[in-house]
Amino acid sequence: MNSYLREIPPIHELQQDPRFQSLLEEAPFGQVTKSLKEAVDQIRKEILTGDWDQQKHQYLKERLFAEVETKVNELSRYHLQRVINGTGTILHTNLGRARLSEEAIRQVNLTAANYSNLEYNIQKGSRGSRHDVIESILTEVTGAEAAIVVNNNAAAVYLILKALASDQEVIVSRGQLVEIGGSFRVSSIMEESGAKLVEVGTTNKTHLYDYEQAITEDTAMIMKVHTSNFKTIGFTESVDIEELVDVRAKHEGLILYEDLGSGALYDFRKHHIGEEPTVAEVLSKGVDLVSFSGDKLLGGPQAGIIAGKKELIKRLAKHQLARVLRVDKMTLAALEATLKAYVYGEEALNRIPVVRAVLTSETELKERTQRFVDQLDQKVWQWQLEKGTSQVGGGTMPDVELPSVLVHLRHPSLSAQQLFDRLRLGEPAIICRLKDDDLVIDLRTTTEEEVQIVVQALDQINKDCLS
Ligand SMILES: *Cc1c(COP(=O)(O)O)cnc(C)c1O
Repeated sequence: MNSYLREIPPIHELQQDPRFQSLLEEAPFGQVTKSLKEAVDQIRKEILTGDWDQQKHQYLKERLFAEVETKVNELSRYHLQRVINGTGTILHTNLGRARLSEEAIRQVNLTAANYSNLEYNIQKGSRGSRHDVIESILTEVTGAEAAIVVNNNAAAVYLILKALASDQEVIVSRGQLVEIGGSFRVSSIMEESGAKLVEVGTTNKTHLYDYEQAITEDTAMIMKVHTSNFKTIGFTESVDIEELVDVRAKHEGLILYEDLGSGALYDFRKHHIGEEPTVAEVLSKGVDLVSFSGDKLLGGPQAGIIAGKKELIKRLAKHQLARVLRVDKMTLAALEATLKAYVYGEEALNRIPVVRAVLTSETELKERTQRFVDQLDQKVWQWQLEKGTSQVGGGTMPDVELPSVLVHLRHPSLSAQQLFDRLRLGEPAIICRLKDDDLVIDLRTTTEEEVQIVVQALDQINKDCLS
Protein backbone atom coordinates (compact mmCIF):
# COMPACT_ATOMS: atom_id res chain seq x y z
CA MET A 1 0.00 0.00 0.00
CA ASN A 2 2.75 2.41 0.99
CA SER A 3 4.63 1.79 -2.20
CA TYR A 4 1.51 2.60 -4.22
CA LEU A 5 1.21 5.86 -2.33
CA ARG A 6 4.88 6.66 -2.77
CA GLU A 7 4.66 6.08 -6.49
CA ILE A 8 2.05 8.82 -7.05
CA PRO A 9 4.12 11.50 -8.77
CA PRO A 10 4.37 14.88 -7.03
CA ILE A 11 2.07 17.67 -8.22
CA HIS A 12 4.88 19.72 -9.83
CA GLU A 13 5.82 16.73 -11.93
CA LEU A 14 2.22 16.06 -12.98
CA GLN A 15 1.92 19.70 -13.98
CA GLN A 16 4.57 19.07 -16.66
CA ASP A 17 2.51 16.30 -18.23
CA PRO A 18 1.18 17.20 -21.70
CA ARG A 19 -2.32 16.22 -20.54
CA PHE A 20 -2.14 18.86 -17.83
CA GLN A 21 -0.81 21.38 -20.31
CA SER A 22 -3.62 20.79 -22.78
CA LEU A 23 -6.25 21.31 -20.07
CA LEU A 24 -4.82 24.81 -19.59
CA GLU A 25 -6.59 25.76 -22.80
CA GLU A 26 -9.89 25.16 -21.07
CA ALA A 27 -9.35 26.54 -17.59
CA PRO A 28 -6.82 28.70 -15.73
CA PHE A 29 -3.72 27.15 -14.15
CA GLY A 30 -5.06 27.48 -10.61
CA GLN A 31 -8.31 25.71 -11.43
CA VAL A 32 -6.61 22.83 -13.25
CA THR A 33 -4.14 22.43 -10.39
CA LYS A 34 -7.00 22.39 -7.89
CA SER A 35 -8.74 19.68 -9.89
CA LEU A 36 -5.45 17.76 -10.12
CA LYS A 37 -4.96 17.87 -6.35
CA GLU A 38 -8.52 16.68 -5.81
CA ALA A 39 -8.00 13.81 -8.22
CA VAL A 40 -4.76 12.81 -6.45
CA ASP A 41 -6.55 12.90 -3.07
CA GLN A 42 -9.26 10.71 -4.49
CA ILE A 43 -6.77 8.10 -5.66
CA ARG A 44 -4.95 8.27 -2.32
CA LYS A 45 -8.21 7.46 -0.60
CA GLU A 46 -8.84 4.53 -2.90
CA ILE A 47 -5.37 3.16 -2.12
CA LEU A 48 -5.85 3.64 1.63
CA THR A 49 -9.18 1.86 1.64
CA GLY A 50 -7.54 -1.05 -0.16
CA ASP A 51 -9.56 -0.45 -3.28
CA TRP A 52 -6.44 -0.58 -5.44
CA ASP A 53 -4.37 -3.23 -7.20
CA GLN A 54 -1.46 -3.67 -9.56
CA GLN A 55 -3.67 -3.41 -12.58
CA LYS A 56 -5.19 -0.10 -11.51
CA HIS A 57 -1.75 1.13 -10.53
CA GLN A 58 -0.44 0.47 -14.00
CA TYR A 59 -2.91 3.01 -15.39
CA LEU A 60 -2.51 5.49 -12.53
CA LYS A 61 -1.82 8.51 -14.72
CA GLU A 62 -4.55 7.69 -17.22
CA ARG A 63 -7.07 7.40 -14.42
CA LEU A 64 -5.76 10.55 -12.79
CA PHE A 65 -5.96 12.74 -15.87
CA ALA A 66 -9.29 11.35 -16.96
CA GLU A 67 -10.60 12.45 -13.56
CA VAL A 68 -8.95 15.87 -13.85
CA GLU A 69 -10.50 16.35 -17.26
CA THR A 70 -13.96 15.48 -15.95
CA LYS A 71 -13.53 17.96 -13.13
CA VAL A 72 -12.28 20.72 -15.41
CA ASN A 73 -15.14 20.12 -17.85
CA GLU A 74 -17.60 20.22 -15.00
CA LEU A 75 -16.16 23.56 -13.91
CA SER A 76 -16.33 25.17 -17.32
CA ARG A 77 -19.82 23.89 -18.05
CA TYR A 78 -22.71 26.31 -17.64
CA HIS A 79 -25.55 25.10 -15.51
CA LEU A 80 -28.05 27.29 -17.29
CA GLN A 81 -27.88 26.02 -20.84
CA ARG A 82 -29.45 26.53 -24.18
CA VAL A 83 -32.18 24.01 -24.97
CA ILE A 84 -33.96 23.33 -28.24
CA ASN A 85 -37.68 23.08 -27.71
CA GLY A 86 -39.09 20.35 -29.93
CA THR A 87 -42.28 19.99 -27.92
CA GLY A 88 -44.32 22.62 -29.73
CA THR A 89 -45.40 24.06 -26.37
CA ILE A 90 -44.65 27.74 -26.87
CA LEU A 91 -44.55 29.06 -23.32
CA HIS A 92 -42.93 25.99 -21.81
CA THR A 93 -42.48 26.95 -18.17
CA ASN A 94 -39.71 24.37 -17.65
CA LEU A 95 -37.86 25.70 -20.68
CA GLY A 96 -37.87 29.36 -19.76
CA ARG A 97 -41.18 30.52 -21.22
CA ALA A 98 -40.83 33.28 -23.83
CA ARG A 99 -37.70 33.71 -25.90
CA LEU A 100 -36.92 37.29 -26.75
CA SER A 101 -37.06 39.14 -30.03
CA GLU A 102 -33.83 40.21 -31.70
CA GLU A 103 -34.58 43.83 -30.87
CA ALA A 104 -35.04 42.94 -27.21
CA ILE A 105 -31.78 40.99 -27.17
CA ARG A 106 -29.99 43.93 -28.77
CA GLN A 107 -31.33 46.33 -26.17
CA VAL A 108 -30.36 43.99 -23.34
CA ASN A 109 -26.83 43.77 -24.73
CA LEU A 110 -26.56 47.51 -25.10
CA THR A 111 -27.83 48.18 -21.62
CA ALA A 112 -25.71 45.47 -20.04
CA ALA A 113 -22.49 46.56 -21.72
CA ASN A 114 -22.87 50.28 -21.11
CA TYR A 115 -23.98 52.87 -18.63
CA SER A 116 -27.55 53.96 -19.17
CA ASN A 117 -30.05 56.61 -18.06
CA LEU A 118 -31.78 54.04 -15.84
CA GLU A 119 -32.34 56.61 -13.11
CA TYR A 120 -31.16 59.77 -14.80
CA ASN A 121 -33.25 62.32 -16.61
CA ILE A 122 -31.06 63.34 -19.53
CA GLN A 123 -33.23 66.33 -20.56
CA LYS A 124 -33.29 67.87 -17.10
CA GLY A 125 -29.83 66.74 -16.08
CA SER A 126 -31.21 65.46 -12.81
CA ARG A 127 -32.10 62.27 -11.03
CA GLY A 128 -34.81 60.26 -12.73
CA SER A 129 -36.88 57.19 -11.95
CA ARG A 130 -36.60 53.77 -13.51
CA HIS A 131 -40.39 53.66 -13.60
CA ASP A 132 -40.48 56.62 -16.01
CA VAL A 133 -38.33 54.77 -18.53
CA ILE A 134 -41.08 52.25 -19.21
CA GLU A 135 -44.33 53.93 -18.19
CA SER A 136 -45.11 55.91 -21.33
CA ILE A 137 -44.83 52.93 -23.66
CA LEU A 138 -46.88 50.81 -21.26
CA THR A 139 -49.68 53.34 -21.16
CA GLU A 140 -49.51 53.60 -24.94
CA VAL A 141 -50.01 49.88 -25.54
CA THR A 142 -52.58 49.36 -22.78
CA GLY A 143 -54.45 52.66 -22.87
CA ALA A 144 -54.03 52.90 -19.09
CA GLU A 145 -53.52 56.18 -17.23
CA ALA A 146 -50.45 54.82 -15.52
CA ALA A 147 -48.38 51.66 -15.15
CA ILE A 148 -45.55 50.12 -13.16
CA VAL A 149 -43.37 47.04 -13.61
CA VAL A 150 -42.29 44.56 -10.93
CA ASN A 151 -40.43 41.26 -10.85
CA ASN A 152 -43.23 39.00 -12.10
CA ASN A 153 -46.99 38.77 -12.03
CA ALA A 154 -46.96 36.94 -8.70
CA ALA A 155 -45.09 39.94 -7.28
CA ALA A 156 -47.62 42.25 -8.91
CA VAL A 157 -50.52 40.46 -7.22
CA TYR A 158 -48.71 40.55 -3.90
CA LEU A 159 -47.85 44.25 -4.13
CA ILE A 160 -51.41 45.17 -5.06
CA LEU A 161 -52.93 43.21 -2.20
CA LYS A 162 -50.38 44.37 0.35
CA ALA A 163 -50.40 48.03 -0.62
CA LEU A 164 -54.10 48.45 -1.28
CA ALA A 165 -55.93 45.84 0.78
CA SER A 166 -53.82 44.87 3.79
CA ASP A 167 -56.02 44.29 6.87
CA GLN A 168 -59.09 44.73 4.69
CA GLU A 169 -61.33 42.38 2.79
CA VAL A 170 -60.91 41.22 -0.79
CA ILE A 171 -63.79 39.46 -2.50
CA VAL A 172 -62.92 36.63 -4.88
CA SER A 173 -65.19 34.14 -6.61
CA ARG A 174 -64.61 30.53 -5.50
CA GLY A 175 -64.37 29.54 -9.15
CA GLN A 176 -61.30 31.76 -9.49
CA LEU A 177 -59.22 30.65 -6.52
CA VAL A 178 -56.58 29.20 -8.78
CA GLU A 179 -53.22 27.60 -8.32
CA ILE A 180 -50.80 28.21 -11.15
CA GLY A 181 -47.65 26.26 -11.87
CA GLY A 182 -47.80 24.50 -8.52
CA SER A 183 -46.37 27.50 -6.70
CA PHE A 184 -48.74 30.40 -7.17
CA ARG A 185 -51.92 30.17 -5.17
CA VAL A 186 -54.21 33.16 -4.95
CA SER A 187 -55.36 32.24 -1.43
CA SER A 188 -51.78 31.85 -0.14
CA ILE A 189 -50.56 35.12 -1.65
CA MET A 190 -53.60 36.80 -0.15
CA GLU A 191 -52.84 35.41 3.30
CA GLU A 192 -49.21 36.46 3.01
CA SER A 193 -50.27 40.00 2.10
CA GLY A 194 -52.44 40.42 5.16
CA ALA A 195 -55.58 40.93 3.09
CA LYS A 196 -58.63 38.95 4.19
CA LEU A 197 -60.03 36.67 1.55
CA VAL A 198 -63.79 36.66 1.25
CA GLU A 199 -64.86 33.80 -0.97
CA VAL A 200 -68.14 34.11 -2.77
CA GLY A 201 -70.24 31.79 -4.92
CA THR A 202 -69.45 28.16 -5.61
CA THR A 203 -66.84 26.43 -7.74
CA ASN A 204 -69.01 26.45 -10.83
CA LYS A 205 -71.35 29.38 -10.25
CA THR A 206 -70.97 32.87 -8.90
CA HIS A 207 -73.74 35.43 -9.31
CA LEU A 208 -73.76 39.19 -9.14
CA TYR A 209 -75.73 39.10 -5.86
CA ASP A 210 -72.98 36.96 -4.31
CA TYR A 211 -70.61 39.87 -4.75
CA GLU A 212 -73.16 42.49 -3.71
CA GLN A 213 -74.05 40.69 -0.50
CA ALA A 214 -70.40 40.25 0.47
CA ILE A 215 -69.52 43.95 0.37
CA THR A 216 -69.05 45.46 3.83
CA GLU A 217 -67.34 48.53 5.28
CA ASP A 218 -64.14 46.53 5.39
CA THR A 219 -64.13 45.61 1.71
CA ALA A 220 -61.16 47.16 -0.08
CA MET A 221 -61.30 45.30 -3.34
CA ILE A 222 -63.07 42.97 -5.68
CA MET A 223 -60.49 40.78 -7.35
CA LYS A 224 -61.11 38.87 -10.50
CA VAL A 225 -58.60 36.18 -11.39
CA HIS A 226 -58.16 34.89 -14.89
CA THR A 227 -58.54 31.14 -14.69
CA SER A 228 -55.52 30.80 -16.92
CA ASN A 229 -54.72 27.15 -16.65
CA PHE A 230 -58.08 25.48 -16.61
CA LYS A 231 -61.54 25.88 -17.99
CA THR A 232 -64.77 25.03 -16.23
CA ILE A 233 -67.30 23.67 -18.63
CA GLY A 234 -70.91 22.66 -18.29
CA PHE A 235 -73.22 24.21 -15.73
CA THR A 236 -71.23 27.34 -14.98
CA GLU A 237 -71.76 31.02 -14.48
CA SER A 238 -69.41 33.86 -13.71
CA VAL A 239 -70.05 37.56 -13.48
CA ASP A 240 -68.99 39.73 -16.39
CA ILE A 241 -66.53 42.46 -15.74
CA GLU A 242 -69.09 45.06 -16.90
CA GLU A 243 -71.42 44.07 -14.08
CA LEU A 244 -68.62 44.26 -11.55
CA VAL A 245 -67.78 47.72 -12.83
CA ASP A 246 -71.40 48.73 -12.07
CA VAL A 247 -71.18 47.28 -8.54
CA ARG A 248 -67.92 49.08 -7.92
CA ALA A 249 -69.48 52.38 -9.06
CA LYS A 250 -71.99 52.14 -6.20
CA HIS A 251 -69.27 51.90 -3.57
CA GLU A 252 -66.96 54.82 -2.99
CA GLY A 253 -63.32 53.76 -2.73
CA LEU A 254 -63.87 50.15 -3.73
CA ILE A 255 -61.15 48.91 -6.10
CA LEU A 256 -61.86 46.55 -8.96
CA TYR A 257 -58.74 44.59 -9.87
CA GLU A 258 -58.29 41.85 -12.44
CA ASP A 259 -55.30 39.53 -12.48
CA LEU A 260 -55.17 38.79 -16.19
CA GLY A 261 -52.41 36.20 -15.98
CA SER A 262 -51.08 36.27 -19.49
CA GLY A 263 -52.48 39.58 -20.60
CA ALA A 264 -52.67 39.71 -24.39
CA LEU A 265 -51.58 42.94 -26.03
CA TYR A 266 -52.38 41.49 -29.42
CA ASP A 267 -55.85 40.33 -30.36
CA PHE A 268 -55.36 36.66 -31.18
CA ARG A 269 -59.12 36.29 -31.67
CA LYS A 270 -58.62 37.95 -35.07
CA HIS A 271 -57.06 34.65 -36.09
CA HIS A 272 -59.70 32.61 -34.29
CA ILE A 273 -57.23 31.68 -31.58
CA GLY A 274 -58.62 31.63 -28.04
CA GLU A 275 -60.93 34.08 -26.37
CA GLU A 276 -58.37 36.19 -24.57
CA PRO A 277 -59.48 39.84 -24.41
CA THR A 278 -56.72 42.39 -24.87
CA VAL A 279 -55.45 44.32 -21.87
CA ALA A 280 -56.66 47.58 -23.43
CA GLU A 281 -60.14 46.12 -23.82
CA VAL A 282 -60.37 45.08 -20.16
CA LEU A 283 -59.17 48.49 -19.00
CA SER A 284 -61.56 50.33 -21.30
CA LYS A 285 -64.46 48.57 -19.58
CA GLY A 286 -63.62 50.45 -16.42
CA VAL A 287 -61.49 48.06 -14.37
CA ASP A 288 -59.30 50.06 -11.99
CA LEU A 289 -56.22 47.88 -12.11
CA VAL A 290 -54.95 44.91 -14.08
CA SER A 291 -51.78 42.88 -13.78
CA PHE A 292 -50.15 40.42 -16.16
CA SER A 293 -46.88 38.64 -16.93
CA GLY A 294 -44.14 39.95 -19.21
CA ASP A 295 -43.02 36.50 -20.36
CA LYS A 296 -46.28 34.82 -21.25
CA LEU A 297 -48.29 35.83 -24.33
CA LEU A 298 -46.65 39.24 -24.37
CA GLY A 299 -43.41 37.53 -25.37
CA GLY A 300 -40.97 39.59 -23.32
CA PRO A 301 -38.77 39.12 -20.26
CA GLN A 302 -39.98 37.86 -16.88
CA ALA A 303 -41.85 40.78 -15.37
CA GLY A 304 -45.14 41.70 -13.77
CA ILE A 305 -46.94 44.65 -15.30
CA ILE A 306 -49.53 46.62 -13.38
CA ALA A 307 -51.65 49.10 -15.32
CA GLY A 308 -54.62 51.25 -14.40
CA LYS A 309 -55.71 54.35 -12.48
CA LYS A 310 -53.05 56.91 -11.84
CA GLU A 311 -53.88 57.42 -8.20
CA LEU A 312 -53.60 53.68 -7.48
CA ILE A 313 -50.35 53.21 -9.41
CA LYS A 314 -48.94 56.13 -7.45
CA ARG A 315 -49.77 54.42 -4.17
CA LEU A 316 -48.13 51.22 -5.41
CA ALA A 317 -44.99 53.02 -6.60
CA LYS A 318 -44.60 54.71 -3.22
CA HIS A 319 -44.90 51.50 -1.21
CA GLN A 320 -41.68 50.04 0.21
CA LEU A 321 -42.42 46.75 -1.51
CA ALA A 322 -42.13 48.41 -4.93
CA ARG A 323 -38.44 48.88 -4.11
CA VAL A 324 -38.14 45.25 -3.03
CA LEU A 325 -39.82 43.95 -6.15
CA ARG A 326 -38.24 46.28 -8.68
CA VAL A 327 -36.78 44.98 -11.92
CA ASP A 328 -33.28 45.48 -13.23
CA LYS A 329 -32.14 47.45 -16.26
CA MET A 330 -31.89 44.41 -18.53
CA THR A 331 -35.50 43.52 -17.89
CA LEU A 332 -36.56 47.08 -18.65
CA ALA A 333 -34.47 47.10 -21.82
CA ALA A 334 -36.01 43.85 -23.06
CA LEU A 335 -39.51 44.88 -22.10
CA GLU A 336 -39.32 48.25 -23.83
CA ALA A 337 -38.01 46.68 -27.03
CA THR A 338 -40.73 44.04 -26.96
CA LEU A 339 -43.46 46.61 -26.35
CA LYS A 340 -42.19 48.73 -29.25
CA ALA A 341 -43.16 45.94 -31.62
CA TYR A 342 -46.75 46.27 -30.39
CA VAL A 343 -46.68 50.00 -31.07
CA TYR A 344 -45.38 49.42 -34.60
CA GLY A 345 -48.11 46.95 -35.43
CA GLU A 346 -48.71 43.73 -37.35
CA GLU A 347 -45.47 43.35 -39.24
CA ALA A 348 -43.24 44.10 -36.29
CA LEU A 349 -45.31 41.74 -34.17
CA ASN A 350 -44.08 38.92 -36.31
CA ARG A 351 -40.67 39.53 -34.85
CA ILE A 352 -41.79 38.54 -31.37
CA PRO A 353 -41.04 34.80 -31.29
CA VAL A 354 -44.01 33.95 -29.05
CA VAL A 355 -46.51 35.78 -31.25
CA ARG A 356 -44.94 34.34 -34.37
CA ALA A 357 -45.09 30.81 -32.95
CA VAL A 358 -48.76 31.17 -32.01
CA LEU A 359 -49.62 32.50 -35.46
CA THR A 360 -47.61 29.92 -37.44
CA SER A 361 -50.09 28.23 -39.74
CA GLU A 362 -50.52 24.54 -40.32
CA THR A 363 -49.40 25.02 -43.94
CA GLU A 364 -46.22 26.75 -42.86
CA LEU A 365 -45.55 23.98 -40.34
CA LYS A 366 -46.13 21.34 -42.93
CA GLU A 367 -43.49 22.89 -45.17
CA ARG A 368 -41.02 23.28 -42.32
CA THR A 369 -41.59 19.69 -41.26
CA GLN A 370 -41.21 18.38 -44.82
CA ARG A 371 -37.92 20.25 -45.24
CA PHE A 372 -36.78 18.65 -42.00
CA VAL A 373 -37.56 15.03 -42.86
CA ASP A 374 -36.16 15.47 -46.38
CA GLN A 375 -32.76 15.90 -44.76
CA LEU A 376 -32.91 12.70 -42.73
CA ASP A 377 -31.14 9.56 -43.90
CA GLN A 378 -33.91 7.63 -45.62
CA LYS A 379 -32.08 4.33 -45.20
CA VAL A 380 -32.18 4.62 -41.43
CA TRP A 381 -35.03 6.71 -40.16
CA GLN A 382 -38.67 5.83 -40.39
CA TRP A 383 -41.06 8.72 -40.08
CA GLN A 384 -44.61 9.70 -40.45
CA LEU A 385 -46.09 13.18 -40.55
CA GLU A 386 -49.28 13.36 -38.56
CA LYS A 387 -51.76 16.05 -37.79
CA GLY A 388 -51.71 17.02 -34.15
CA THR A 389 -51.86 20.02 -31.87
CA SER A 390 -49.46 22.31 -30.08
CA GLN A 391 -50.20 24.08 -26.81
CA VAL A 392 -49.63 27.71 -25.97
CA GLY A 393 -48.45 26.62 -22.50
CA GLY A 394 -47.43 28.61 -19.45
CA GLY A 395 -50.95 28.24 -18.10
CA THR A 396 -52.23 30.31 -21.00
CA MET A 397 -55.21 29.56 -23.24
CA PRO A 398 -55.66 26.05 -21.79
CA ASP A 399 -58.46 25.13 -24.15
CA VAL A 400 -56.72 26.27 -27.29
CA GLU A 401 -55.26 23.58 -29.52
CA LEU A 402 -53.15 24.99 -32.30
CA PRO A 403 -53.33 22.72 -35.34
CA SER A 404 -49.88 21.35 -35.99
CA VAL A 405 -47.95 18.83 -38.06
CA LEU A 406 -45.98 16.34 -35.98
CA VAL A 407 -43.04 14.20 -36.97
CA HIS A 408 -43.33 10.67 -35.58
CA LEU A 409 -39.83 9.27 -35.72
CA ARG A 410 -38.38 5.77 -35.32
CA HIS A 411 -34.88 4.38 -35.44
CA PRO A 412 -34.23 0.72 -36.37
CA SER A 413 -32.15 -0.09 -33.29
CA LEU A 414 -33.09 2.51 -30.68
CA SER A 415 -36.31 2.70 -28.74
CA ALA A 416 -38.24 5.95 -28.64
CA GLN A 417 -37.16 6.40 -25.03
CA GLN A 418 -33.48 5.87 -25.93
CA LEU A 419 -33.80 8.37 -28.75
CA PHE A 420 -35.53 10.83 -26.48
CA ASP A 421 -32.74 10.47 -23.87
CA ARG A 422 -29.92 10.85 -26.38
CA LEU A 423 -31.42 14.02 -27.79
CA ARG A 424 -32.01 15.33 -24.29
CA LEU A 425 -28.44 14.64 -23.18
CA GLY A 426 -26.82 16.06 -26.30
CA GLU A 427 -25.38 19.50 -26.70
CA PRO A 428 -27.45 21.55 -27.04
CA ALA A 429 -30.14 19.52 -25.32
CA ILE A 430 -33.09 18.81 -27.58
CA ILE A 431 -36.38 18.22 -25.79
CA CYS A 432 -39.09 16.38 -27.70
CA ARG A 433 -42.29 14.52 -26.92
CA LEU A 434 -42.81 10.79 -26.47
CA LYS A 435 -45.93 9.06 -27.61
CA ASP A 436 -46.27 5.31 -27.36
CA ASP A 437 -43.32 3.93 -29.34
CA ASP A 438 -42.62 7.09 -31.26
CA LEU A 439 -40.43 10.06 -30.70
CA VAL A 440 -42.57 13.05 -31.60
CA ILE A 441 -41.15 16.37 -32.74
CA ASP A 442 -43.24 19.51 -33.14
CA LEU A 443 -41.29 22.14 -35.04
CA ARG A 444 -43.63 25.00 -34.12
CA THR A 445 -41.15 26.07 -31.47
CA THR A 446 -37.93 25.78 -33.47
CA THR A 447 -36.18 28.22 -35.78
CA GLU A 448 -34.72 27.15 -39.15
CA GLU A 449 -31.27 27.16 -37.56
CA GLU A 450 -32.49 24.88 -34.78
CA VAL A 451 -34.05 22.49 -37.26
CA GLN A 452 -30.55 22.06 -38.72
CA ILE A 453 -29.15 21.30 -35.27
CA VAL A 454 -31.78 18.61 -34.79
CA VAL A 455 -30.89 17.10 -38.20
CA GLN A 456 -27.20 17.00 -37.22
CA ALA A 457 -27.97 15.54 -33.81
CA LEU A 458 -29.99 12.73 -35.40
CA ASP A 459 -27.17 12.06 -37.88
CA GLN A 460 -24.71 11.87 -35.00
CA ILE A 461 -26.92 9.53 -32.99
CA ASN A 462 -27.11 7.25 -35.97
CA LYS A 463 -23.32 7.34 -36.47
CA ASP A 464 -22.78 6.51 -32.80
CA CYS A 465 -25.06 3.53 -33.23
CA LEU A 466 -23.06 2.17 -36.15
CA SER A 467 -19.65 2.52 -34.53
C1 LIG B 1 -49.14 33.00 -14.60
C2 LIG B 1 -50.07 33.65 -13.69
C3 LIG B 1 -49.61 34.28 -12.52
C4 LIG B 1 -48.16 34.28 -12.14
O1 LIG B 1 -47.43 35.05 -13.03
P1 LIG B 1 -45.83 34.99 -13.03
O2 LIG B 1 -45.44 36.04 -14.01
O3 LIG B 1 -45.46 33.62 -13.44
O4 LIG B 1 -45.39 35.31 -11.65
C5 LIG B 1 -50.53 34.89 -11.72
N1 LIG B 1 -51.84 34.88 -12.00
C6 LIG B 1 -52.33 34.27 -13.11
C7 LIG B 1 -53.80 34.28 -13.37
C8 LIG B 1 -51.45 33.64 -13.99
O5 LIG B 1 -51.93 33.05 -15.10
